[in-house]
Amino acid sequence: MTAAESSTAPALLPTSIVGSLPKPSWLAQPEVLWSPWKLEDAALVEGKQDALRVAVQEQTRRGIDIVSDGEQTRQHFVTTFIEHLSGVDFEQRETVRIRDRYDASVPTVVGSVSRERPVFVDDATFLRASTDRPIKWALPGPMTMVDTLYDAHYKSREKLAWEFATILNQEAKELEAAGVDIIQFDEPSFNVFFDEVQDWGVAALERAAEGLKAETAVHICYGYGIKANTDWKATLGSQWRQYEESFPLLQQSTIDIVSLECHHSHVPMDLIELVRGKKVMLGAIDVANQAIETPEEVADTLRKALTFVDAENLIPSTNCGMAPFPRDVALKKLSALSAGTDIIREELAVEQT
Ligand SMILES: [Zn+2]
Repeated sequence: MTAAESSTAPALLPTSIVGSLPKPSWLAQPEVLWSPWKLEDAALVEGKQDALRVAVQEQTRRGIDIVSDGEQTRQHFVTTFIEHLSGVDFEQRETVRIRDRYDASVPTVVGSVSRERPVFVDDATFLRASTDRPIKWALPGPMTMVDTLYDAHYKSREKLAWEFATILNQEAKELEAAGVDIIQFDEPSFNVFFDEVQDWGVAALERAAEGLKAETAVHICYGYGIKANTDWKATLGSQWRQYEESFPLLQQSTIDIVSLECHHSHVPMDLIELVRGKKVMLGAIDVANQAIETPEEVADTLRKALTFVDAENLIPSTNCGMAPFPRDVALKKLSALSAGTDIIREELAVEQT
């Protein structure tokens, strides 16, 4: 490891990505979400680790300060976790409406859910050994897990969410012990089921994060740039105010970091004020458009956000995962993110002198 690679995150504006990066074409078919693996057994394990190494190297050389696995070892951000739990039958499938938006064939909860063994801990240990930079690991949030299943056992979204929160907490504690610095829960459902967010969603999320010494984050977005999501976004009008529902609750919660979609979205920038005091992972890279942002475009988004978030709390990031992109597009967007962040770092440094 070179001196440059072992540097720690800068004090100001550490950059990070929300989640996925495209997988190498020898591991899974590119530009397809949830693409099946091309390898099997021991070759698959080795292939995932090699892909993870590449993801770390690309983030490092392109100036990403808080490093993630790029979700190279998982097929789906929710289902891969659920596959490792007992109580869920993947053969018994039902069609349900996901996030009130599109129909999907999903597995069925047939009994008490439990985690028989760690799911991502080996992968996180591998990531920890691959970099000296701070690392972040993403898990699905309890509500989003519930929304990706047919429940024939608990027959209560709330009860099932609490069970998942307990399981996620076990996993999160082991990820923390493996050296993960930030544990992120992905809760796109928080932009859809507002009554449940209020009634039990945030409480279940806090249960998942209970007792952790690692920093905790929640990522709430408008989804990948796939058709079902872009069609949905077209119905949301000129101002996307969904965050107005969850942010006041999260501001009062134990969660440390709120990850939100911002660049090119119709989210009014001033909604960030609702989580004042929390760290903000701000989406300054569009994941629904392949055009590479210029550094000045990224800087412009960050500059505007700084009206509503203190500089020491701002983590420049992407809007969501970048798995569906061609690889070179995603990687160039990483470079744009750090180049844009550098512009703002310099401006802040000038202000201080
Ligand atoms: Zn997202």
